[in-house]
Amino acid sequence: MKNNEWLAQVSKLSGLPYYQDHRIFGDKSGALIGTSDGYLVALGVGKADGGHAAVKVLLRYAKAQDPGHIKQALDPAKGKFKLTADETTATLVRTYSFAKPDAPAIAEDVRNLLAALKTAASPMNGKCEECGKAEPQIMLLNDVPTYYCSSCQVQLSQKLDAAAIAYENLETNLPLGLVYGSGAALLGSIAWGGVAYLLNRIFLWGAIGIGLLIGKAVVKGTGKVTWTARIMIGVLTAASVAFGDSLFYALIVMRENHLAFVPALKLVLMNFWKLESDSEGGLASILFGLIGAGITVYGTRKPGFKARFVSLGTPATTLSNAAAK
Ligand SMILES: [Zn+2]
Repeated sequence: MKNNEWLAQVSKLSGLPYYQDHRIFGDKSGALIGTSDGYLVALGVGKADGGHAAVKVLLRYAKAQDPGHIKQALDPAKGKFKLTADETTATLVRTYSFAKPDAPAIAEDVRNLLAALKTAASPMNGKCEECGKAEPQIMLLNDVPTYYCSSCQVQLSQKLDAAAIAYENLETNLPLGLVYGSGAALLGSIAWGGVAYLLNRIFLWGAIGIGLLIGKAVVKGTGKVTWTARIMIGVLTAASVAFGDSLFYALIVMRENHLAFVPALKLVLMNFWKLESDSEGGLASILFGLIGAGITVYGTRKPGFKARFVSLGTPATTLSNAAAK
């Protein structure tokens, strides 16, 4: 059965209006969004963590002191769903492999869950989630169904704009980032070269660790991540691994040619590119280091500061409507 036909069926059985345009669970079939006894309910098809196909349900209630209590109450009613609950929302995810679960069974699960929810959490009853003022219209706030009065919407947008500006204005301390980053890079080199010498081989995964460490150190110093900081992380990582490789080669040259450390290192550095491209894993180690650096850089993207409010509009609840689209 196609997702939209299935949702139309669940809609009919559960009485929850079907909105094909609101892809709040990520699937283009849309979602059921509505209220039941003052609770907000949303249901749709989407992906579970790890990309598995799943039926997802959100149950939203008035802010609760103890999410654990709600989880306990919902647990016996959850059927084959996986359940998580926080102060305002219980999230239920049921993965499936071939066919979607039976629509009547899912409608029954939702009924059971709502009955159980009544024993543990207060309904939202059409009140603004922020200030408690009566607000009959359901809104979507960044794809989460909610009640949010117009003045609180304005306030939230202003607050987030201010946070975005504050972030832009954060000082970036590049010199301190360089100091921390260089320290981490030197430590990384010594550890890299030493371990490689003792075990007589290069561990490529270790290079990723060095990239991560240098990334963390630079970010700790700079405070905010700019493009200069990102480039610094990349350069320091490549340098750290390359110098680590040099230390490793130098230690070997020392042992095999009975040289002192400094002349051995000098010899290695003068022939660095040849050694690095000849050695197994030499260039790859730098590449792996950069992967680690990339992970840190990706993790320090600018945070999102947007509140996107969308009103629900008109549902397409009937099966004929859904099938016609
Ligand atoms: Zn409000």
